[in-house]
Amino acid sequence: MKKTTALLMAAALCFSAAACAAPKTARENELPLIPLPNGKTEVGGERVALPEVLGVDPGVFSMEFLEVYAGRADVALSSQGPAFLRVAHGASLPPEEYRLRVSEEEGIQIVAADERGLCWALATLAALTEGGKVPVCYIEDAPHYGYRGFMMDSARYFYPVEVIKALIELTSMVKYNTFHWHLTDDQGWRIESKLFPALHEQFPGEYYTQQEIREVVEFARVRGMEVIPEIDVPGHVTAILAAYPDLSCRALPVKVEAVPGIRSTILCAGKEPVFELLLPLLEEMAGLFPSRYVHLGGDEAPKDEWNACPHCARRLAAEGLADMEELQGWFIARLAKHLEGLDKQIICWNESLFSAYLLEQVPDLTIQYWAEARVIGPPREFWERGGDMIFSGEFGTYLDLPHGAVTLKKVYNYAPATIGFKGKGLSAFGIEACMWTDYTSETDVLARLTFPRAYALAEAAWTLPELKNYKDFRSRLDPWLEKTPGLGFTPPAEADPGWFSRIRENAAFLIKLSKDFDDSKENNAGTAGRLHWRYTLRCAREFFL
Ligand SMILES: [Zn+2]
Repeated sequence: MKKTTALLMAAALCFSAAACAAPKTARENELPLIPLPNGKTEVGGERVALPEVLGVDPGVFSMEFLEVYAGRADVALSSQGPAFLRVAHGASLPPEEYRLRVSEEEGIQIVAADERGLCWALATLAALTEGGKVPVCYIEDAPHYGYRGFMMDSARYFYPVEVIKALIELTSMVKYNTFHWHLTDDQGWRIESKLFPALHEQFPGEYYTQQEIREVVEFARVRGMEVIPEIDVPGHVTAILAAYPDLSCRALPVKVEAVPGIRSTILCAGKEPVFELLLPLLEEMAGLFPSRYVHLGGDEAPKDEWNACPHCARRLAAEGLADMEELQGWFIARLAKHLEGLDKQIICWNESLFSAYLLEQVPDLTIQYWAEARVIGPPREFWERGGDMIFSGEFGTYLDLPHGAVTLKKVYNYAPATIGFKGKGLSAFGIEACMWTDYTSETDVLARLTFPRAYALAEAAWTLPELKNYKDFRSRLDPWLEKTPGLGFTPPAEADPGWFSRIRENAAFLIKLSKDFDDSKENNAGTAGRLHWRYTLRCAREFFL
C-alpha cells in the first residue's frame, strides 16, 4: 500500500512537468481541454515561452491559487518584479466565469469572476502548459451547472488521505467544484470524534483525524472544490450502533458489516438518547467543514423495526404523524433545524421525498436523485416545483458499476432530460459522479473505474448540451489520459473497454453480488434478492436493448 500511495501524488502532480511524456494533440490548433469551454475560443499556432521565474500579479486574489498552478505546471513563481501573469477581478461576470488571454506582447491575462473562476482559469492554463510554453489563445468560459460533484465513499473501504487528495487533484483539474465525502455507513465510521471517540476507535488506523480532515478541506479549497460531508442517518448506521447498541429500537448488539446491502437495524426515532448523540455529533462534524451543506443521507432505511417499536409508536402519536415515512421526515427535520442554527442547509437522497412533513419543515431541502427505476414520481414533482436537485442516477453516474453496465458514452450523455426530467424553463441544480467502494478496495481498480468516466461526467456537468459531442470528446480524451494518469495507474489501452471485456466485467460483478447479497444473513433487511435482480436486469439491458 505504501508504495502505491507514494506513486499517487507523484502521478497526480506530474502534470505538464518535463518528466511527463509530451501529449499528442488530436488536431492542430485544437486545445486539448476537458471539459470543452463554453464561450468564445480562439487559438493561434504560436507558443509563448514562460519566463524562467514566472512573475505574477494576483490582483485581489490570494497567491495560494497561483501556487497550485505552479505545482501543476512545474514553474517557479514570484510576486516581485514585472508580472508576466496578471489576474483581474471581473466583478460583473457570472459565478465561476473566467477569461484567459495568452499573447506574445502581453503575456498571460486572466479575468475571473471569483476565486473559483480563477481556479478554473488556472486549471485550463495548466492543461495548456507544455514544456514551459503555452499557446497563444483567448478563451471565455463558464459552467453549465453550478454544482458539479464527485462523491467518494470512504466508509465501505478506507483510503488514506494521499488517495483522497489525488482524487481531488484529478477531479478539480476537470473543474468539478464539489467533493461529496461519504464518511459513515454500515461498514465504517471514518472521522475522528472528540465527543464520541467510541465511533472512530472501532477502526484503528482507518479513520481520518480532524487535522487530516482540515488538511483535505484546505487542499480542495485552493483547487476550487468544496468538501461536503455525508453523515448517513437513520439507516446505514451499523457502525454507529456497533459502538452504541442502545440507540436502535431493540437495543440488540450488532457487528460492523463487512459486505454491502441494506440493514434492518437502524437508529430509533423514539429514543431521546439518539438525539443526545446526533445533535452534538453533527455540530462537531459540521464544524470541521466550512461548506454550506451537510448531507444527511436518509436513504435505504427499512421501517420494520420502527413498526414494531413502542418508542417509535409513542413519538409518532406525540408528533401527530401519519406513518413511518413521516416519522423519518420528522427525524431528519429535527437534525436539519439544528444545523440551520449553525447556518447549514441539508442534502438528502431521494427516499426523503416520501415525507411531505420534511418538505414542509425544511423548504430549502436539496435532493440528490439516485434511483432511476424507483419513485420517479415524487422527485419529478419536487423538481417541477423548482426544488434543487442533484442528479446522480445509479445507471448513469455510479462509477463503481462495471463499464458494461455504465459505459463511457452513457456517462458522457448523462443529463436529467435523458432520464425523463424535462420541462421548459426548468433546470437542475447539478450533477454528480459517485464512487462507492464496496468492491473497490484496490487502488488500480479504483483508478480504472473512476477514470476516464469521471472525465466524461465532468464534461456533462460543465459543457452546454448543444456543444457536447462524444466523438470529439474521445479525440481529446487519449491525450488527456496520457498527460494525467489517474492515481498512478497506467491508463487502459482502450479508454472504453470492448464488448467482450464489458460482458466479462458484468458477469464478475454479478457473481460477487450474489455471493454477498444473502437475505438469510443476520441484520439483512430482506432486499438482497430485489437488489440483485435490479443489477442483473440492468446489466443485461445494456446488451439486449
Ligand atoms: Zn424505535
